[in-house]
Amino acid sequence: MLGLSRRRVGSAVFVVMAIAVLLIAQTPPSASQQTSSTQSPVPRRLRGYGEATKADILRGAYGQYRSNNDLLFYHLDIRIDPEKKFVSGKNTIRFKMLKDDTRIQLDLADALSIDKILLGTVPLKYARDSGAVFVDFPETLHAGRVYEVDFYYSGSPVSTGRFGGFTFAKDPSGHPWIYTACEGIGASTWWPGKDQWRDEVENMQISVTIPNGLVDVSNGKFMSKTDLGDGYTRWDWFVHYPINNYDVSLNIGNYVQFSDRLGDLAMDYYVLPEDLDKAKKQFTQAKGMIEAFQHYFGEYPFVKDGYKLVAVPYSGMEHQSAVTYGNHFANGYLERDWTGVGISPRFDFIIIHESGHEWFGNSITAADSSDMWIHEGWATYLEALYVEYMYGHDDAIKYLNGYKPKVKNDETIITARGVNGEPTQDQYFKGALFINTLRSVVDDDQRWWKLLHDFYQHFKYQNIMTEDVVEYFNQQTVMNLTPVFDQYLRHTAIPTLELKFDESKGTVSYRWKVDEPAFQMPVRVGKKDSWQIIHATTDWQTMPTTLKKDEFEVATDLYYVNVTKE
Ligand SMILES: [Zn+2]
Repeated sequence: MLGLSRRRVGSAVFVVMAIAVLLIAQTPPSASQQTSSTQSPVPRRLRGYGEATKADILRGAYGQYRSNNDLLFYHLDIRIDPEKKFVSGKNTIRFKMLKDDTRIQLDLADALSIDKILLGTVPLKYARDSGAVFVDFPETLHAGRVYEVDFYYSGSPVSTGRFGGFTFAKDPSGHPWIYTACEGIGASTWWPGKDQWRDEVENMQISVTIPNGLVDVSNGKFMSKTDLGDGYTRWDWFVHYPINNYDVSLNIGNYVQFSDRLGDLAMDYYVLPEDLDKAKKQFTQAKGMIEAFQHYFGEYPFVKDGYKLVAVPYSGMEHQSAVTYGNHFANGYLERDWTGVGISPRFDFIIIHESGHEWFGNSITAADSSDMWIHEGWATYLEALYVEYMYGHDDAIKYLNGYKPKVKNDETIITARGVNGEPTQDQYFKGALFINTLRSVVDDDQRWWKLLHDFYQHFKYQNIMTEDVVEYFNQQTVMNLTPVFDQYLRHTAIPTLELKFDESKGTVSYRWKVDEPAFQMPVRVGKKDSWQIIHATTDWQTMPTTLKKDEFEVATDLYYVNVTKE
């Protein structure tokens, strides 16, 4: 997704405090079968702990009761009553135990009631705390064995977050329009599960029962719809791949559908009837997008599930294989020139950016929200790859550099681990400019394209951390890029190339001013069209130059760096 005013976490002070709260959070409440419905649906903030709530810490941590099991399968089976704005049903959760234990942690927002949690026919005890649900088993669950619980729940989800979380709305003609978008605030705002980033089910069934005449579009392949004879129809979808929690979605509306194909890939589009003609024109861009990303990374990741665009009233979200779209059927981003250099108006930002997440975000997923640049930095860089594929290298560089004014360089891109939260927006723009800098460091496009392709192929369908990315890039390039990654992702300042000229001697001295002592990075300097590469480090080096101070340039459109001259 693309966020414009997101909550931030992650100062050094905050990390220390988060750890302190984690220790407190290690002691969950004792089990009871009572549902505590007296708690506020809005997570209470812990005084003095930055912006992280106790709920953020319980949800973001991967403690004993999360790490003792591995998710295999969900069957989310729910009924939606648009009149009462009410959701009811169950999630069947299948998991393998990795350690012997008697307790696991699941999640469900306090605003929703737990009706019962069953192991077979046996009701289980549970304890709720700030969105976490600790489920206790009467006997030890054994490592290596597979178990399944049926988690029954009901209630009215509280609409929250920038995109609403779970929203009961109406379309302009008065039909119900019900949709979900819960990245950050969490899937547990509307359905129960293991709501974290590290562990994903291998596949998932989604059954949504809605009044006859409406259409539900969820993730995965459409399997069937069944008229239940009580005025409601159940829509069944099946996700053939791992899926992260926040991608799971439902979109219920008065949709009409049209279809296309790209080779073996089914492409299906769902829009309101009044938008059909506009959509048929605008969505032709989807094919070129898929072709571009397949060119760089390989096959579209979710062929068995197909590719879908689903109209919604908010701007859009990368819901896996069912990307939601609300970009006014116009190019640019909400009809603006998004990077301000005349290139954004050539294409539909939401189709390109959100679909780029199919490769980075959905197929490759960060294992902790702290490392979300793996979604957003890469998806933003994919925009530039799309531009390069369609319009060439010069326009791609121009497009990327148009992002510079949006970068703040005031907080680190990677934030505190084990706490639910969202890094600063620099993860998008600075993230993409950093990846473009890496390309210049590699300085060999054939190698760069192979590196990108192999990187994606190596980690597809996995949940990874930045360390995995760095290790892979170091191995493949046979370079030590760790200080470069660290400078851009773990410090606020970008590298500054310091230049000192001695025009009487005809020399220039240079070094990097950075936070990482072992930082070294080659950079192109001199005159455009005849750049020379210097291997600058944090120590001063001197070389001859015939260029005067004012003539001496640095290729700052290829490397995201500052330059000072004296
Ligand atoms: Zn995004």
